[in-house]
Amino acid sequence: MFLVFGGLVSCLQAHDLSGLGYDPHGHPPEVPASAGTNSSPSTGLAWIFAPFAPAVSTREDGSYLYVNSTGFPDHPMMKGIRSWQQQIPIPQDYSGQNSWRLPLQPVPASSPAMIRGRFLRGAIALAANGVPIFNPQNNRGEIALEIGELDEWGGHCGRADDYHYHVAPLHLQEKVGSGQPVALALDGYPIYGLTDPDGTSPKDLDACHGHETPELGYHYHASKSYPYVLGGFHGEVTERENQVDPQPRAQPFRPAGEPLRGAEITDFQKTGPDAYELTYRLRGESWHLLYSIRNGKLMIETRKGNQTIRKETFDRREDRPRPPR
Ligand SMILES: [Zn+2]
Ligand SMILES: [Zn+2]
Repeated sequence: MFLVFGGLVSCLQAHDLSGLGYDPHGHPPEVPASAGTNSSPSTGLAWIFAPFAPAVSTREDGSYLYVNSTGFPDHPMMKGIRSWQQQIPIPQDYSGQNSWRLPLQPVPASSPAMIRGRFLRGAIALAANGVPIFNPQNNRGEIALEIGELDEWGGHCGRADDYHYHVAPLHLQEKVGSGQPVALALDGYPIYGLTDPDGTSPKDLDACHGHETPELGYHYHASKSYPYVLGGFHGEVTERENQVDPQPRAQPFRPAGEPLRGAEITDFQKTGPDAYELTYRLRGESWHLLYSIRNGKLMIETRKGNQTIRKETFDRREDRPRPPR
């Protein structure tokens, strides 16, 4: 009656090939404890990302799930930001050697690593649509949502023009189905919405904002106030230079921007293949950034009303070799 792991994989592939898509109202596949041989049973995690195929794709080896994405959501972005550092959304190449890596068999940590004031760089989780989720605190330790840094979908762009969320993207439930996870934490445990799949409020949440249930095992719950995503990692993670390691790197085209006081982003549109327009208001005037990414170059035209103020071109910065140790 339940699919074993191999069956699950072929089921998802068949769905992808047939174009039937993913049943948003289905329940996570359950795997009988006897499905494994000597190791602990695999539950699989790729199905969390299946609603967003083919934009988001996955592969796995015996230990890890690898997720490829561009970090670009299929919903609008940027509108509503009132505290802006002049970063713009640019698709990233999170694939191949630079893909997301998540443990297929998460291991509970002997003591959880709490995230307040910690893990302030990089992602702590990956949303089902392949967009990274950062700590609810920004890299200066402020709660990003509470200081107007985030758009209506809980995201903004980092110093490398990399779009990411700082809260759990509950709006993804429209696509994944209510009662389904909206993200996977980098320790390998899923993040569900505000309720359990049966619609009830989660009970006995621990300091990490998760709990264990017979149906789902250990999982986190998002919240509408701090910690928004998770309070700490229940599972083992490696911490290096204030972030979970390893994780993909965003590749910048240009130096990080400065805060533009008084600006409010009012619109963002895709205007063509690899071309975008971001609109903001500043001191009563409407400003537009028209930009495109072609042949490894970023071209940006800045307009105030209909008047072109400047045009800039940037080459994608190559990864600098690491300094000798
Ligand atoms: Zn951020
Ligand atoms: Zn729960």
